[in-house]
Amino acid sequence: MTQDQWGQIKEALRETVGRNNYKTWIEPLELADIENDVATFSVPTTFLGNYVSRNFGDVILFKMSGVSPRVRRIDFKVDGHSSAGTGSEAVTQPARAAAPEAAPSRSGSAVSSAPLDKRFTFESFVVGKPNELVHAAARRVAEGGPVTFNPLFLYGGVGLGKTHLMHAIAWELQAQKPELNVVYLSAEQFMYRFVQALRDRRMMDFKEMFRAVDVLMVDDVQFIAGKDSTQEEFFHTFNALVDQNKQIIISGDRAPGEIENLEERIKSRLQCGLVVDLHPTDYELRLGILQSKADRFAAQYPGLDLADGVLEFLAHRISTNVRVLEGALTRLYAFASLVGHKITLELAQDCLSDILRASDRKVSIEEIQRHVSEHFNIRLSDMIGPKRVRNFARPRQVAMYLCKQMTSRSLPEIGRRFGGRDHTTVMHGVRRIEELRNQDAQMAEDLEILRRTLEG
Ligand code: ADP
Ligand code: MG
Repeated sequence: MTQDQWGQIKEALRETVGRNNYKTWIEPLELADIENDVATFSVPTTFLGNYVSRNFGDVILFKMSGVSPRVRRIDFKVDGHSSAGTGSEAVTQPARAAAPEAAPSRSGSAVSSAPLDKRFTFESFVVGKPNELVHAAARRVAEGGPVTFNPLFLYGGVGLGKTHLMHAIAWELQAQKPELNVVYLSAEQFMYRFVQALRDRRMMDFKEMFRAVDVLMVDDVQFIAGKDSTQEEFFHTFNALVDQNKQIIISGDRAPGEIENLEERIKSRLQCGLVVDLHPTDYELRLGILQSKADRFAAQYPGLDLADGVLEFLAHRISTNVRVLEGALTRLYAFASLVGHKITLELAQDCLSDILRASDRKVSIEEIQRHVSEHFNIRLSDMIGPKRVRNFARPRQVAMYLCKQMTSRSLPEIGRRFGGRDHTTVMHGVRRIEELRNQDAQMAEDLEILRRTLEG
């Protein structure tokens, strides 16, 4: 493969991974050489190599082998220091994306799992109310005992710990039952392997190898929605494993029934086992996570003091997702260690102002009105208009309630935006929904769904 061809592949990758990912992860890659069936890239840091391998390895391999079929593996080495010795830092972690065929492909040879993140273990997973059920289910599956629910389907919003839990299950199983063939893949990686097998006319191998897996985990299954032949193959693999009583663990960003463009038969299959969701974090869980992180940082940066109230402040102000929360703390420690300064509230406000501002993003009254009327299938004009029939009045009250909860607008202001209603009407509406929320499970669920979509 020439540098030119690599350049073209890079361009194609820009489309696939998006501009931001491209800039951060793909652009810095330099094709160093191709020897036998391995393409080696030089990368500026170990971290980058690991990250690219884990997240884009399969895509890169897929595109490369389209141009140059003999490439079956990619590898990363850290810039500049190719000679042996201390300078040459081999990328730790199994930083290679091996095509399934890279293993000597006798029939029955194994599917390779994507690399697991060392940090994602049960020990480092903080349990609180919003995730205790999922955690218990994950622990149970990780015991590797008789299969009681199949599949285990985990779902929840971005950054709530789905991937973390799946890796934790895999680590635990590998430690307790090393004889099991545990395979963790993202749905995207599943697809790339499938497409590559199709192209190489190795579907028999592909099928055979997947059917020899003992525990299969597929992360972010929503990715295959709308991708028909991948869904089809996934469905067959899935059924074959369930028939053999092999454990399957799937994650998605929403409940199986709510994933659009996913075949009905797959949805119903996914619902057959145990479906559990990760709820948005609450204050206590966020604080717990921050504390456990801070403990680890304390070991890493001895002598760096943390003032009282900083963690509480962060747990209170950053409610989006755990990834953002962790990122904030990491930045805070890095910054404080650079300036050799105690971590105080002021420092946090200073160095995290962008994150804090982004988390502050309040939804607007219009957004709430629009989402609520869509949710209840009424026209926006009917929600704001004068009609008092129940079909319009209830959604209107729901919208008022959400405006009170999610914006900082006063009752009179909210009233004005609902067709010039009086603030007592708004107050009455808000109270009514508060009551219903406690009495009526359907109402509680509607509110939860709306709140989530509005926050998301
Ligand atoms: P998802 O796959 O649901 O988008 P991840 O599993 O990638 O989310 O989690 C995002 C980040 O938040 C990871 O660094 C993970 O370790 C961390 N995280 C999420 N939930 C917890 C938790 N309960 N305890 C500790 N860390 C968590
Ligand atoms: Mg994930």
